[in-house]
Amino acid sequence: MPVLPGLVDTHVHINEPGRTDWEGFWTATRAAAAGGVTTLVDMPLNSVPATTSVEGLRAKLAAAGGQCWVDVGFWGGVVPGNTAEIEPLLKEGVLGFKCFLTPSGVDEFPHVTEADLRQALPELARPGAVLLVHAELPALLKPISGNPLDYRNYLNSRPRSAEHEAIALMIRCSRTFGARVHIVHLASADAIPMIRQARAEGLPLTVETCPHYLTFASEDIAQGATEFKCAPPIRERENRERLWTALEEGVIDMVATDHSPCPPGMKSGDFGGAWGGIASLQLSLAIMWKHCLGRLSACPTWMSRAPAKLAGLQRRKGAIAPGLDADIAVWNPVGKLAELQHRHKLTPYRPQDFPGAVEATFLRGQKIYERGHFASAPQGAIL
Ligand SMILES: [Zn+2]
Repeated sequence: MPVLPGLVDTHVHINEPGRTDWEGFWTATRAAAAGGVTTLVDMPLNSVPATTSVEGLRAKLAAAGGQCWVDVGFWGGVVPGNTAEIEPLLKEGVLGFKCFLTPSGVDEFPHVTEADLRQALPELARPGAVLLVHAELPALLKPISGNPLDYRNYLNSRPRSAEHEAIALMIRCSRTFGARVHIVHLASADAIPMIRQARAEGLPLTVETCPHYLTFASEDIAQGATEFKCAPPIRERENRERLWTALEEGVIDMVATDHSPCPPGMKSGDFGGAWGGIASLQLSLAIMWKHCLGRLSACPTWMSRAPAKLAGLQRRKGAIAPGLDADIAVWNPVGKLAELQHRHKLTPYRPQDFPGAVEATFLRGQKIYERGHFASAPQGAIL
């Protein structure tokens, strides 16, 4: 059976404390262990309080205590007016920061404008902290027009141009301030040339995409199938194929899940009202294995090494190598996917579609998961 470095997922919304009924540390980290993910980094929003202050981080740490089946790190949040929190949050151990350029969906985490970025970026650039960016510009988003049950109308409301203008803004900001910028969940392949050019220029820009953008196509999404709703939206089939090419060429650095569940009731209704978020933390390796058709050799780069480096964890995580933590996922190409451990099982993926499953997961040399069974107690650490 293939043996891989434990996966590092740098885009996970745990939502505890405050919205623990959406997803919590216990269920998310068990799902991670069952999916071969040995390190995850929690996003600073959807929990209450948000991780935009030292107080917010301490609430997270208190909530996580004794509940983590894998190692967990935290991103801090950049929101309007919290520039003074950046340095204290770094001192308290956040691995970097996240901001939104468009409304995030929750009131506790407002989006930033270019003026806010101009305040925050020097504070981030000085210590070399990375800024993760949800890159869509609100001025280019539109209300859904037409039937809100029709996915095409949702897709049209969040055009590619909203991503492009946001990424262009972040490239300019990176150039001006010398700041490390990471574009989360790239959905539009039309931005690839711009990203390629920025990197040729030597700007410290990295990019991730998600399994759902590499798997689904807007043409196939049925009327009212709101389990597919996420932002930016899943785009057309031809776009998906170009994302794959960019990933294979290394222009897209990594794959992270953006695991962002909510109670199933919030996913019902139409594409306007439903919560945007897709649960896939436990499934990411199975998804990638299926699409890579056995070329599992690329997955450690996209799903372990590059994300570990993004989070500054490369001296401990991201590879099987002397001196690093012995975090290991054992893949069984004919294994059967175990029961989902996510708090809510709703996902657009159909588990029966996946050949193969994680056979066993080791965290710092200890077996924490094997074929649906877990170790006797959680052994995850806070990073
Ligand atoms: Zn997210």
